Amino acid sequence: MFSKIINLKKNSDTFEGKVKFVTYLANITLLLMHLIYLGYYLYNMFIPLVLIDLASILLYLYYSINGIKNSIKFGIQTYILILTHTILATILLGWKPGFYQWLYALVCAFFLPSFSNINSKPVKRPIYMGLFYVLIFYILATLVNGGYVKTIYHISNVENRVLFSINSFLTFMTIMAFTFFYTTREKMSIDILKYKADFDLLTGLRNRNAMNQIIDNRIDNGEKSFPLAILDIDLFKSINDTYGHNVGDIVLRDLASLLKTMEYKDIISSRWGGEEFLILGPTSMSKKEFVDILNSFRELVEKYKFKNNNDNINLTVSIGVSKYTANSLIKKAINDADMNLYKAKNNGRNKVVH
Ligand code: GH3
Ligand code: MG
Ligand code: MG
Repeated sequence: MFSKIINLKKNSDTFEGKVKFVTYLANITLLLMHLIYLGYYLYNMFIPLVLIDLASILLYLYYSINGIKNSIKFGIQTYILILTHTILATILLGWKPGFYQWLYALVCAFFLPSFSNINSKPVKRPIYMGLFYVLIFYILATLVNGGYVKTIYHISNVENRVLFSINSFLTFMTIMAFTFFYTTREKMSIDILKYKADFDLLTGLRNRNAMNQIIDNRIDNGEKSFPLAILDIDLFKSINDTYGHNVGDIVLRDLASLLKTMEYKDIISSRWGGEEFLILGPTSMSKKEFVDILNSFRELVEKYKFKNNNDNINLTVSIGVSKYTANSLIKKAINDADMNLYKAKNNGRNKVVH
């Protein structure tokens, strides 16, 4: 059981992994909780409650041992058991022990199917389900409090208070757990959307839009000057033609990884277009230093063996450099870099021109 928990925790990086971990933990908590209830019911010989409790224990024990493969199935079974337990305990023990509070927690559980995985759709017609709960709540309250159903097992005031406190505590904790779970899931969805909006999925580099935003922010913050460059792979078409488009993609991804190594010098790269990258130097960096770094990078690429199964692919890159200064336009700086790239291409490629 403990090794299962540790294993699930290890794999809880993805949302699905988190769901599995949380569901298993909930299952163990439910098991322990029902064992406590069982002791109490057995001691007092509340036979119907002993039976429903035993059914719950068997189910949670089964899942504790075998793991939970289908969270939705587990959710529905748990849901039915808690609802039955709630209704039965309220009818048999009366209103005072506060079992009815579990109805509040069950309302939260009703939204689980919307959140079971990252693509699930919202629950349909939640309002009807909500009204169903209100109905159960009022019917129970009327039956039990209105004297239509006589409480069968009479328990002392102290027991009532203790049970009420336990039920309150557990339902509040359950509602909190659900809320935490739902908000975490929403936060994850937003993070994924943000990532997709700002990053290129093939290379993991920032996309053109995100790079434009970084540049705009710098200019808005009054940064006076910074160097920038456009890099284009030389004769990339021939790599696609020789090895296929998929290999071309792998090469792009590997080149992006190399570009990322310059980040420790605060040099940010972005995928500007197909096999073109816009590279941004930090404000404090002189154009000369930037050109030197890019030249080393160009040499690194030239020597680097891009791997595809048994083939070693060689390639070179051409880079056009320019500098943004506050009294000119960013458009002009990017144009200048483009012009210099053009010159690099016309002068035999594998060059940095500034
Ligand atoms: P040059 O040295 O003049 O730049 O030659 P080139 O062959 O690289 O010419 P160009 O830059 O015009 O060609 C770009 C090629 O890059 C064409 C296109 O098929 C390829 N390409 C663009 N985006 C991708 C991509 O996402 N994946 C792959 N595999 N190829 C791409
Ligand atoms: Mg190109
Ligand atoms: Mg090219």
